Amino acid sequence: MTNDSGSETPGQPLSVDELSDRLRSRGLRVTGPRLVVYNTLAKQGGHRSADEVAAAITAAGPSLPRTSVYNALKALVDAGLADVVDAGPGTTLYEVRGESHHHFICRQCNALLDVPTEESVNGSLYSELPGARVESAQVILRGLCPDCAARPTARA
Ligand SMILES: [Zn+2]
Ligand SMILES: [Zn+2]
Repeated sequence: MTNDSGSETPGQPLSVDELSDRLRSRGLRVTGPRLVVYNTLAKQGGHRSADEVAAAITAAGPSLPRTSVYNALKALVDAGLADVVDAGPGTTLYEVRGESHHHFICRQCNALLDVPTEESVNGSLYSELPGARVESAQVILRGLCPDCAARPTARA
């Protein structure tokens, strides 16, 4: 694996050792399901529901009970190894923690796109909340994705 300094792909998969260290450093036990779920999520890339992760695990080998997948995802989020993507009510998606970014949701095709964050998270775009310690920020941008925006408006 090359050590490129670019930041184009959020979520460089961690080795089993790195992953184990991270889990342990957060006081979490290293379990088979956690490793499998993390690796599957990292391999799939992008934003995945627990069901998608479970299906990919089943396709690749011995399947995990859905609750194990959920619990493992939750543990990974707690460990700071994965993030929950706030994609609106009823949709919980997970992604491997990578470069900090926001999300764009297309109102027409529901595409969920990553939007790189500029220095704005702690910059002037957001006002301060006195006394609070902001640890992460996730902004949902909505509108038309590039594809939909380029398409002539369908007026049925
Ligand atoms: Zn679209
Ligand atoms: Zn994302």
